[in-house]
Amino acid sequence: MKSLNEIQENQKILLKGIEHPRLGNVIGLFEEVGELAKEVTDIEVYKEQKKGALGQECADVLFSLLSLCDSYGINLSSEYEAKVKEIERKIPDWRLKYTGILKALRSKLD
Ligand SMILES: [Mg+2]
Repeated sequence: MKSLNEIQENQKILLKGIEHPRLGNVIGLFEEVGELAKEVTDIEVYKEQKKGALGQECADVLFSLLSLCDSYGINLSSEYEAKVKEIERKIPDWRLKYTGILKALRSKLD
């Protein structure tokens, strides 16, 4: 399995010379998030099961996010690691505050 760093580097090589402008990357990311939302709506509201479509849209979102990161010189792996460290410090508090309510919501909504 490739690391996120390797995935980002491979994608940068793949798109070399045909990168979108930064604004295009932002718009593309929102387009893909919208498509992901549509797949979730189809599953959750209309009870449609299109095999693999949700996973493909998740991959599209990651692809677009990595393109956006590249256009701003962001190493997503490094940023992600820093974010996880920040979240790890908050987890004990979140467990105390939210475990019960989130468990109840999952049983109701999922
Ligand atoms: Mg898509």
